[in-house]
Amino acid sequence: MTSHPVTLSNPASPGGAGSLGPVQQTLATIAVAEGVGLHSGETVGVRLCPAAKGQGRYFVRTDLPGQPTIPATLATVDQTILSTELRQGEATIRTVEHLLAALVSCGIDNARLEVDGPEIPLLDGSALGWVEAIQAAGVVAQTQPRSPLRLQRPVSLQWEDAWVAAFPADHCRLTYGIDFDLPAIGEQWFSWQPNPLNPEDFANTLAPARTFGLAHQIDYLRSQGLIRGGSLENALVCGPEGWLNPPLRFDNEPVRHKLLDLVGDLSLLGALPQAHVVAYRASHRLHVGLAQEIAQAMIDHSQETV
Ligand SMILES: [Zn+2]
Repeated sequence: MTSHPVTLSNPASPGGAGSLGPVQQTLATIAVAEGVGLHSGETVGVRLCPAAKGQGRYFVRTDLPGQPTIPATLATVDQTILSTELRQGEATIRTVEHLLAALVSCGIDNARLEVDGPEIPLLDGSALGWVEAIQAAGVVAQTQPRSPLRLQRPVSLQWEDAWVAAFPADHCRLTYGIDFDLPAIGEQWFSWQPNPLNPEDFANTLAPARTFGLAHQIDYLRSQGLIRGGSLENALVCGPEGWLNPPLRFDNEPVRHKLLDLVGDLSLLGALPQAHVVAYRASHRLHVGLAQEIAQAMIDHSQETV
C-alpha cells in the first residue's frame, strides 16, 4: 500500500540467512540529515556515524561545550510528554524515537549519533528519511555476539483506559490498538514482527507512517510551547470532518505510527525483547514504563537463577 518502497543493499550480517543476526552491526560509513525539530522548531543537523562493538546507540551534542554524550538507554530517559527526551547531566536530546526505531529495525546495534541541537529533526514525520540515511551509510557486521533479551514472566502497566503488556514469546512481536472519537481514525489494530535480517519489511510497513495530531489540540499545544516545528508538511492532522492534509500512505497510518513509536521507545532496552508486546491507547510514558518493567523482570530472573 505504501508508495515509498525502499530496499537496503546490504542489510544482512554474515551470520547466515535464517538466523536472527547473531553478531552486532554498525554503520559502514557516515550519513547526514538535517531538518526542523517538531517541538523546538529549531533546525538541527545529524551525523549518523559508525561506533565500536558494545558501544550501543548514543547521541553526542556537538553544539555544547565538551560535546557531551547521551546514551540511548532507559537510564537517560528524562521526560515523555508527546515525545521521548533523554538527558545526561545538563545535556538533553528530544524526539529520539523515530531515529532509534529505524536503527534497531535495520539491525544497527552500535551508532554514534552527532547532533548540533536539542531535538532530532522530524523530517516528513515518519522514519523513512532515517532508513534512507542508514541505507546510504551501509551496514557492517562486527565480531561481538548480540545478547538476546528474553522475558521470563508477563509484565503490564495501566493508566486510566490505556495499558501496555508484554508476554514471554520465542520472538519479538508487537501489537498496537488505538481508539479515537474522530470518525476518520476510529479504532485501529496492527501487529508487526521485527526481523533484523529483513529491514525492507520495516522500510515498507512501518517506516513511512507519519506523526499525526488532532486539530482541536493544536492551539493548546502551541500555547504550551510545543509543536513549534509542526506543520501540514510533517504531520497528519485530523479534525471532525476528516484529515486536513490527505492522502494517507496507509488506511491505518495512525496505528502504524504508534507502533513505530513503540519500537523506538523499546529500543532503549538495548534491543527489542523476545516478547509479545501489546499496547492499547498508550503513550511514550507507558512505552517507557513497560520497557522499565521488562528490564526489571530480566534482572529479577537473572538473580533467581544465579
Ligand atoms: Zn512518533
